[in-house]
Amino acid sequence: MAKSKGDKKKDAKDKKETRPKEQRVEVPTSAALRVGPDFSWEDVDERATPGWDGDKAAAAVHLAARADELSDLQERLYAHGRTGGDRSVLLVLQGMDTAGKGGIVRHVLGLVDPQGVALRSFGVPTPEELRHHYLWRVRRALPRPGQIGVFDRSHYEDVLVTRVRGLVDEAEVPARFEEINRFERKLVESGTTIIKVAMAVSYDEQGARLRERLERPEKHWKYNPGDIDARVEWPEYRRVYAEAIRATSTEHAPWHLVPADRKWFARLAVGELLLEALRGLELAWPTADFDVAHELERLSASDDLPH
Ligand code: ATP
Repeated sequence: MAKSKGDKKKDAKDKKETRPKEQRVEVPTSAALRVGPDFSWEDVDERATPGWDGDKAAAAVHLAARADELSDLQERLYAHGRTGGDRSVLLVLQGMDTAGKGGIVRHVLGLVDPQGVALRSFGVPTPEELRHHYLWRVRRALPRPGQIGVFDRSHYEDVLVTRVRGLVDEAEVPARFEEINRFERKLVESGTTIIKVAMAVSYDEQGARLRERLERPEKHWKYNPGDIDARVEWPEYRRVYAEAIRATSTEHAPWHLVPADRKWFARLAVGELLLEALRGLELAWPTADFDVAHELERLSASDDLPH
């Protein structure tokens, strides 16, 4: 006898309730982390874990469980690039010193094949870089088709630190925002998915992390006296960050605000953002441009050759 509508509904509900727990787990999604033209620091809690109600241990387990899928999707992207495809991903990491950008690279990008990752850190421009337009060094570092590019700092420094230090004419800043939006739009149109992440560490947590770097000899190498110079400008950095986020969070390349006082959450969140972007590419494995059966025959025939 055919099932009634009510029975079917009940079956579907039962199915849902008996689904294993891990399939129902809430994860930090791009929708939960996205910020736009109305961004304000007042809405930010650096210790929050939006989209995640598990603890640190559960987050580590969850991220590790994503490794296979991340790795598989990254390999598809790489294969796509090697066979003439035009897609790539660019992860832009911005944040104050100690926000944990390095940890993201180690713990999230470390889950995929390093051959497919193009990492570039942007520090104080070299004399040669200063002779060019500020986007020059950025264009040269863009991921090639098939790659995941990672910018540890980025072109955004040219509307952040340069403003705080008075290295750019304030009147020029709105034009830079427009220019960056156009630049990113072109990138997206040419096949790059851009994931922009602003990692938010609180003033107190930054203080604690800097103190640890000073108190533990094995962390001295991470300490840079310039970090304190930036710290004392904290309100200015907050102001220029907020303005940059508001002006450059576009449909094609929105900003994500990732609370970073809990390092484990920031890693989990960026892992999810990357996974979401890679899934969104919907890449199939490239089809062979040779006759597979014929090649198998040739291989079999070669087995008996003298060797
Ligand atoms: P990080 O602070 O990112 O961990 P780090 O301390 O090792 O890195 P570098 O990578 O050598 O230092 O340089 C980072 C510094 O360069 C930051 O203080 C950043 O603000 C500064 N910087 C980056 N881009 C620019 C720019 N366009 N103009 C001026 N300073 C810049």
